[in-house]
Amino acid sequence: AAEQLSKAGWLLDMEKLILGNSIGEGEFGAVYEGEYMGKKVAVKNIKCDVTAQAFLEETVVMTKLQHKNLVQLLGVILHNGLHIVTELMAKGNLVNYLRSRGRSVVDVKQLLRFSLDVCEGMEYLESKKLVHRDLAARNILISSENTAKISDFGLAKAEPKSTDNAKLPIKWTAPEALKKEKFSTRSDVWSYGILLWEIYSYGRQPYPKMALKDVKEKVEQGYRMEAPDDCPPVIYTLMRSCWESDPSKRPSFRKLREKLEKEHRDCKST
Ligand code: ADP
Repeated sequence: AAEQLSKAGWLLDMEKLILGNSIGEGEFGAVYEGEYMGKKVAVKNIKCDVTAQAFLEETVVMTKLQHKNLVQLLGVILHNGLHIVTELMAKGNLVNYLRSRGRSVVDVKQLLRFSLDVCEGMEYLESKKLVHRDLAARNILISSENTAKISDFGLAKAEPKSTDNAKLPIKWTAPEALKKEKFSTRSDVWSYGILLWEIYSYGRQPYPKMALKDVKEKVEQGYRMEAPDDCPPVIYTLMRSCWESDPSKRPSFRKLREKLEKEHRDCKST
């Protein structure tokens, strides 16, 4: 993987990197803001060599992706484990963004804009035959210009492979993926429905107050979340369509995008 990245020009120079403050804590390493040749960047440092190797292989996938709604990889540095350099998303993740600002700051049109941004990014991933597997508001980052972009391709895989069930984000994962490990773009659509619910509830935890094991059981029996307060009925209908038990009955990201675009056109800023 290192050789592949090097040949394609994705290896960056540690000397040219200016590291700044810590801006986040990931599961596998701290995230810092910084500057690389005059450009503001975010840097994730993975110190563990075994983890670093796995991430290095995933960055090879990332080098092939470019879209306005995906967090752009800028390169990697092989120093002290692995440094992954991406564009800086100045306003942090979507959950914190919505929770800290709330209804008085973020209007319905902005919620729709975020929903559409994520949908467009997913439509692009779908076109590349990539399944994200961990689509959730915590993995959506906001730029200084309020554009939402998808990050964390940690679990993204070209081919549906078996994963460790214990690590699955239960509240976001489609029933067939939880039960039979059937991950597909349609299981990403399910997660997208949960993400819509998170957006319209201004960053609430899905299935509030429900234990994980109850969620799995209840959802399989047909239970679905209620609409968030003040959620437009059209949007709640979209969520429910993403949560069809039969994956083939769920809409595609393209269909979702078309519907959201229409809503966005008709939506007035408040
Ligand atoms: P993990 O997936 O291992 O939990 P993340 O990659 O999600 O770690 O990073 C953890 C946190 O760091 C994010 O929630 C976000 O607040 C911050 N962060 C990550 N990448 C960036 C970035 N490119 N720009 C700004 N902040 C970031």
